[in-house]
Amino acid sequence: MLDINKIRADFPILSQKVNGKPLVYFDNGATTQKPQVVIDAISKYYQEINANIHRGVHTLSQLATDAYEESRGKIQKHINAKFAHEVLFTSGTTHGINAVTNGFASILKAGDEILVSALEHHSNIVPWQMLAEKTGAILRVIPMNEDGELIMAEYDKLLSDKTKIVTVNHISNALGTINPIKYMIDKAHEVGAAILIDGAQAVPHMKPDVQELDCDFYVFSGHKLCGPTGTGILYGKEAWLNKLPPYQGGGEMIKEVSFEKTTYAELPHKFEAGTPNIAGGIALGTAVDYMNEVGFDNIQQQEKELLEYGTQRLLEIEGLKIFGTAAAKTSVISFNIEGIHPYDIGTIIDKLGIAVRTGHHCAQPIMTFFNIPGTIRASFAFYNTKEEIDLMVAAVKRAQLMLS
Ligand code: PMP
Repeated sequence: MLDINKIRADFPILSQKVNGKPLVYFDNGATTQKPQVVIDAISKYYQEINANIHRGVHTLSQLATDAYEESRGKIQKHINAKFAHEVLFTSGTTHGINAVTNGFASILKAGDEILVSALEHHSNIVPWQMLAEKTGAILRVIPMNEDGELIMAEYDKLLSDKTKIVTVNHISNALGTINPIKYMIDKAHEVGAAILIDGAQAVPHMKPDVQELDCDFYVFSGHKLCGPTGTGILYGKEAWLNKLPPYQGGGEMIKEVSFEKTTYAELPHKFEAGTPNIAGGIALGTAVDYMNEVGFDNIQQQEKELLEYGTQRLLEIEGLKIFGTAAAKTSVISFNIEGIHPYDIGTIIDKLGIAVRTGHHCAQPIMTFFNIPGTIRASFAFYNTKEEIDLMVAAVKRAQLMLS
């Protein structure tokens, strides 16, 4: 059981007023707030050990390198990767996906097939379209049903020996659906295809075990699990990372350079060209420690209660419809109110201190499927409370009254 007051005290931003009202932050799907320990880890790096990593023999450079590599080790342990060098630092999920699609440009041939799910964020659609355009590969879409679940019978039918890679999110950002990724991974492997899991929305709620899942790639952003923006992880199986060419050339990623020929560094450096976000990478390790201290069992318990309570309270509102009614979902409620544009509700409740996301949530194909311009999305984190849900429901009711 979480001591919610103690947890909330870890996040300085939560005690702020916005527009003169206590902040109710329900936009955790976009980014989570940061606990003081993460904020401190960033300033501690700049105050005490700021130096470039993997280069200098001097003490500060070694301290910074050790802290950065220690963070990699924490993340390796957290996701249960077999080797630390399978854990690559990136600037976020988008970066991780593009690194993989760039690598696959030298593997795919015309007529090969890429399977992408209907539930994806634009950052897990567009890079694959660019890859298809570059290679002549064909993009096929795994369809969804009215509950916002992927249809596994259709997935099974789409898989063939032409399928070279499958890409799917662990959890949908727009609807909160938890996808059956273990099934999907095993099925992809049966036809010899690789599979990438976009874990951006999963890591704030659960601990992925990449060895148990047996996925080939797992990507996520640091900022969605209480870490800094501009940080992320691309996990890849060693064999795949050795096979894929680097997508960026520069310092750090080389063994030897001459004008005739350059040889690349070993993993993970082959994929980490240039000076990285050192403070961010270190603070991401701190965020992972923090989340583990809170405990994912506690996080899930709190979020389950918030999801149930929030769903029940919102459904009191006349004309309110929830999109995404999958049996397996996380603490995301995407909804609309009959006859009112989501943007108008969002704007009014912001004046009342309530932060939600409105719009297509970078998942336009999902909105097209439901034939709507967008939704209002309330996404809860473990530091949210039922009292905050009451405030949101009251604010939405007020907005509805004003707009109808
Ligand atoms: N995939 C999903 C499922 C997401 O929710 C997001 C962020 N909203 C992304 C990818 C992109 O993450 P980032 O912008 O941090 O690269």
